[in-house]
Amino acid sequence: MGDGGGRQNRVVIIGGGLSGLTVARRIVQRADALRQSVEVVVLEARDRIGGAIQTQRIDGFTLEGGPDSFITNKPWGVELCRALGLGDQLISTDPAHRRSFVVRQGRLSPVPEGFVLMSPHRLGPIITSPILSVRGKLRMLMDLVLPRKDDDSDESLSSFVKRRFGREALDRLVQPLVGGIYTADPAELSIKATLPQFPEMERKYGSLIRAAWHQRKQARSSESNASGARYGLFVTLAEGMDTLPLALAASLPPGTVKTNAAVRRVGRPDPVSPWLIELLDGPPIRANAVVLATEAHASARLIDAFDPTLALWLRAIPYASSVIVNIAYRRDQVAHPLDGFGVVVPAIEGRSILAASFLSVKFPRRAPAGTVLMRVFLGGATQPELFDTDDEMLKVIVRDELGALVGAKGEPLLAEVARHPRAMPQYTLGHLERVASIRQQAARHSCLFLAGIGYDGVGIPDCIRAAEQTADSTLAALADPATPAAA
Ligand SMILES: Cc1cc2nc3c(=O)[nH]c(=O)nc-3n(C[C@H](O)[C@H](O)[C@H](O)COP(=O)(O)OP(=O)(O)OC[C@H]3O[C@@H](n4cnc5c(N)ncnc54)[C@H](O)[C@@H]3O)c2cc1C
Repeated sequence: MGDGGGRQNRVVIIGGGLSGLTVARRIVQRADALRQSVEVVVLEARDRIGGAIQTQRIDGFTLEGGPDSFITNKPWGVELCRALGLGDQLISTDPAHRRSFVVRQGRLSPVPEGFVLMSPHRLGPIITSPILSVRGKLRMLMDLVLPRKDDDSDESLSSFVKRRFGREALDRLVQPLVGGIYTADPAELSIKATLPQFPEMERKYGSLIRAAWHQRKQARSSESNASGARYGLFVTLAEGMDTLPLALAASLPPGTVKTNAAVRRVGRPDPVSPWLIELLDGPPIRANAVVLATEAHASARLIDAFDPTLALWLRAIPYASSVIVNIAYRRDQVAHPLDGFGVVVPAIEGRSILAASFLSVKFPRRAPAGTVLMRVFLGGATQPELFDTDDEMLKVIVRDELGALVGAKGEPLLAEVARHPRAMPQYTLGHLERVASIRQQAARHSCLFLAGIGYDGVGIPDCIRAAEQTADSTLAALADPATPAAA
């Protein structure tokens, strides 16, 4: 590696999830291109990399204990996969069953066609859907005539939806669809931090329905102009989602990533000294720059002693715990035709699961022929007690729920529980201001950076984009001659 200034910088990245690994790859790549000499070290507390992303392969089943796919209309996920040589492994959802269900009075009803999160691209399917009462539908249509909000202040997701579409659309459609992503209570979530495109649609078109029509028209005309490989709205990786973190790690120089390397503390005695990274086990490491790519609460613990104010701000981002149970049956054990990608469950239905994906329908090669694989989501901010339930009880709950909802009967072929303790940040009201304060406070320390799911978007593409930006900021700071040497 070339070195303009004649010295080698060391960057320590704490956290070997998608964010930490993406920061590492980008730094290594760009440093080479910029002829900067940088040694990168990634420290991961667990015995495996990938963080929330975890894939298991058992008896011909590919089980996703974390994310099962990612969205393609934010390009950074697809772009990274292609750059890593995984382009030909990206697979789209099976077009044969591109729809989802929502539970109404214990039964599965299709989500009205064209309804995405809270964007009704077509009115016909909503009008004919049994999900909303006549009154609920009329109230939703009032979106076309209601005035737009006259100020730019933030509001909760539930207040926004109630204002535009009414209470029934919130309870029956939007809460279950959004709840499955954020595992959150919509009365707490900030609309601007979670789904800023919707207030923007209201601002621009005065109505979400009109905005959706406009987008549909635009999408049609860009489809007619488009050429080359195209994907559906969601893609996964043919051999499982952990292919992505594994490929990221493989793209780094050997020895860069260290697992079973939990960090205890980060600090430095004064601003001209290098950073000191203390491990739970092993000698401390010195670095010119540190990237905290851990959950915000974990980052708070790391810098508690060094900067208690920053730690306090980081702790102000709440996190929810959730569980995913992968469960498989023989096809003949499940009565429902499973002619969709899965089902979301409104909180007002009072059931114990948040959602279930029919993984073997959604993507090819997830389960042996003649079987069905489902991925069931439980817990989150609205049902925290379920996270504390033991594995055997969780499996019983899931079997009962699937029995009631899709007519699953008898002993499953397998059931595997994956837990995500305090892994899902809740972008509650004031989140954007909190993140701004965190960034401002962190900027008081040269060469200290934050990356990860806690700040600028929870989905895989958003995390990738934020991580790449963090890598660029890190390299820019290292290029500053005032940066202290590591050794
Ligand atoms: C249950 C669940 C389902 C999801 N489903 C989807 C989905 O379907 N599609 C989608 O796009 N996104 C999904 N997401 C979001 C997606 O997983 C994230 O965007 C992404 O994986 C976050 O990566 P990260 O590296 O920021 O965080 P994490 O994956 O949480 O990684 C943080 C890492 O830091 C490590 N760490 C913590 N403390 C220390 C320490 N002291 N020392 C060393 N290491 C430490 C942790 O062990 C962990 O490996 C889901 C998230 C969850 C939790």
